[in-house]
Amino acid sequence: GGATILRGGAFKPRTSPYSFQGLGTTGLEIMREVGDELGMGIVTEAMAPDDVAIVARFADMIQIGARNMDNRALLKRAADSGLPILLKRGITATIDEVMVAAESLLAIGNEQVIICERGERTFEPSIRNSLDIAAIPEIKYRSHLPVVADPSHGTGRTDLVEPAALAAIAAGADGIIVEAHPDPSTALSDGFQSMPTGEFRNFMASARRMAWAVGRSI
Ligand code: PEP
Ligand code: MN
Repeated sequence: GGATILRGGAFKPRTSPYSFQGLGTTGLEIMREVGDELGMGIVTEAMAPDDVAIVARFADMIQIGARNMDNRALLKRAADSGLPILLKRGITATIDEVMVAAESLLAIGNEQVIICERGERTFEPSIRNSLDIAAIPEIKYRSHLPVVADPSHGTGRTDLVEPAALAAIAAGADGIIVEAHPDPSTALSDGFQSMPTGEFRNFMASARRMAWAVGRSI
């Protein structure tokens, strides 16, 4: 459908301890197999320092989740793996704070860092998180690092994902992360913010049109 990297969670940070916690190593094996079959790199989260070794064995890039942005022991272990790091901005982190977390990865010697704007907690209850569009160009002004946007967590609602993604592209995002599922109503995780996979091609067509409109290309 035009996606270039496959992202999924095998070790999942969940709000409730009773929610689906991910498939663990089996999930990593499935993702690797699908990534190889489709010729796509895979990125997945390591939640704890001790997860890094197993994640690094299967993945091409390690995700540090929003809840762990400031977990220096985890950042160090992930940076030491030598793999590229997808660093998600914390749920209440300022731009300075995410920049400092990124800097700590660079200081260890891992320069392959992507920052992800995934929405922050605000006073608005109807939207799970408020995607901070202005943070995208601001982080790009302050650093040379690529910035991607996650409009799925950034809005928490399937119907808001595409408009928020288009805004992020217009604002200069270097990539977009979208959660997709063949039938979101039966998803074990985050179905309410997932795009039906059948709509992904249309989404990509809109993304390309937006990129073109602002003098960029996908
Ligand atoms: C995720 O990427 O699936 C995830 C749990 O994201 P975040 O860490 O941004 O909440
Ligand atoms: Mn999710």
